[in-house]
Amino acid sequence: MNKMTLKVSARSENEAFVRTVVSAFMLQLNPSLEELSDVKTTVSEAVTNAIVHAYPDREGDILIECEIGERYIKIVISDSGVGIPCVELALQPFYTTKEDDERSGLGFTIMRSFMDEFEVVSSSGAGTRLIMTKKIA
Ligand code: ATP
Ligand code: MG
Repeated sequence: MNKMTLKVSARSENEAFVRTVVSAFMLQLNPSLEELSDVKTTVSEAVTNAIVHAYPDREGDILIECEIGERYIKIVISDSGVGIPCVELALQPFYTTKEDDERSGLGFTIMRSFMDEFEVVSSSGAGTRLIMTKKIA
């Protein structure tokens, strides 16, 4: 088992940075290009959500915790922002609270389809935590 933790400000400049760091960390598992790309997209969607939705009125941080084992990567991405009042609703395809902002409401749907395990822990005012695992063949 090997671990890595990263904490960044929830700013759009950091989205590509986090994606690159996580994919570099994952390289020691010798992932296929598809596995790598799935994880990059997932991290990108998760971090973008924290940047766009978590802190509407203030600055905040995003915590990224990765763990890799022989055949998997586990990624936990959390913020301490506004949280999601109804997770079940937010997980529905095309559900978005930012329609005006050219958001399509597919972020969670994409993350879920690319990862083997996907869990969202959130409630109003309590921040949001995504717990995700992908098997790497
Ligand atoms: P897209 O990802 O397609 O650009 P989106 O971000 O609105 O659009 P999802 O990523 O599926 O769609 O998220 C659905 C909704 O869940 C968001 O519109 C937002 O209301 C809520 N949400 C998601 N992540 C967070 C978060 N970290 N903090 C607060 N609310 C969130
Ligand atoms: Mg999104």
